[in-house]
Amino acid sequence: NVTSRPPPNPSPLRTAKFFQANMRILVTGGAGFIGSHLVDRLMQNEKNEVVVVDNYFTGSKDNLKQWFGHPRFELIRHDVTEPLLIEIDQIYHLACPASPIFYKHNPVKTIKTNVIGTLNMLGLAKRVGARILLTSTSEVYGDPLVHPQDESYWGNVNPIGVRSCYDEGKRVAETLMFDYHRQHGIEIRIARIFNTYGPRMNIDDGRVVSNFIAQAIRNEPLTVQAPGTQTRSFCYVSDMVDGLIRLMEGNNTGPINLGNPGEFTMLELAENVKELINPEVKIIHVENTPDDPRQRKPVISKAKEVLGWEPTITLREGLPRMEEDFRKRLGILRNE
Ligand code: NAD
Ligand code: UDP
Ligand code: UDP
Repeated sequence: NVTSRPPPNPSPLRTAKFFQANMRILVTGGAGFIGSHLVDRLMQNEKNEVVVVDNYFTGSKDNLKQWFGHPRFELIRHDVTEPLLIEIDQIYHLACPASPIFYKHNPVKTIKTNVIGTLNMLGLAKRVGARILLTSTSEVYGDPLVHPQDESYWGNVNPIGVRSCYDEGKRVAETLMFDYHRQHGIEIRIARIFNTYGPRMNIDDGRVVSNFIAQAIRNEPLTVQAPGTQTRSFCYVSDMVDGLIRLMEGNNTGPINLGNPGEFTMLELAENVKELINPEVKIIHVENTPDDPRQRKPVISKAKEVLGWEPTITLREGLPRMEEDFRKRLGILRNE
């Protein structure tokens, strides 16, 4: 008699798996700056299980230590230029060095990561039927001849310069995304990220915001690269993560610009850092590197319209939050 049978003992394996994640999400490059903040946000949703794949080239396990041992979290040391066989529902594909000094350090590896790495993640998406989001970059616009830049601009990129492994690499990655979409019906999302800053940025990665903050804290001169009138637009990392998740969850393939339209010259940025962090610090002018874009500012009307997204944190609000994180990591407290 079936109905009188005692209820089965739950197996220890089943009880150990006390959560039932609805969505298993892969974040490549999840040990990096933006990736680790994205993981934090995804982990806040109890329906998500998060798998990070990273080769630790520019990222660090330390950025994810808050999740070690969590039953919904898994970290895999893996290089995306090698095939990856796992079962997942969504892929946030961020793996790629983002700072010029790191991506120029081994340009061949950078372009392989962009091309072969993206191809592998698309092959994975195709096999398991996952939606995939690529973090492309404003660098696809190169040294833009149109200002500000909207998504319809095709860019002005040097194909053989020292930045090309990154710019052209991301352009090919975008092409691959659309070819897999058109040819194989893969669900794709492309974000074109403009300069992003915040806690956990690599302290010595040479990017301008991390350089100026570390220099101000160490009381070393702020190095404004010539001419100093070149502009950038800086987005705080929590705003960026919000935009990436909205893009993934929405219905638009993109490409969509994600960035803060507030535009600053590098001299203005230095003056803000000086005023907010160390009024005694000197500002000096140093040489620039080749092919440095002279101006960059996103048009974000598409993100506003399609994703209902716009940045909420101004540069003057974001810089002190980053200062706090850098002071902790550098072990230099503010002299009150
Ligand atoms: P990051 O260097 O902190 O993170 C990149 C991560 O990818 C690191 O953890 C690194 O170890 C990992 N990685 C690199 N090559 C890999 C490989 N072959 N296999 C596996 N892992 C690899 O950089 P970030 O600022 O967090 O950038 C994340 C993404 O956003 C990148 O795709 C970058 O191109 C894009 N992006 C960033 C910015 C920005 O201002 N930070 C601007 C535009 C685009
Ligand atoms: N790939 C992967 N994981 C998978 C499926 C594919 O890493 O789960 C890689 C595969 O090794 C290949 C790439 O993705 O290099 C593209 O795969 P696709 O099936 O589109 O092309 P093909 O294998 O036919 O060249
Ligand atoms: N820059 C600077 N001082 C520095 C580092 C960078 O003035 O110590 C300038 C650089 O010339 C460029 C801008 O800051 O015009 C942004 O450089 P970054 O490397 O941060 O990002 P990207 O060039 O990729 O936008």
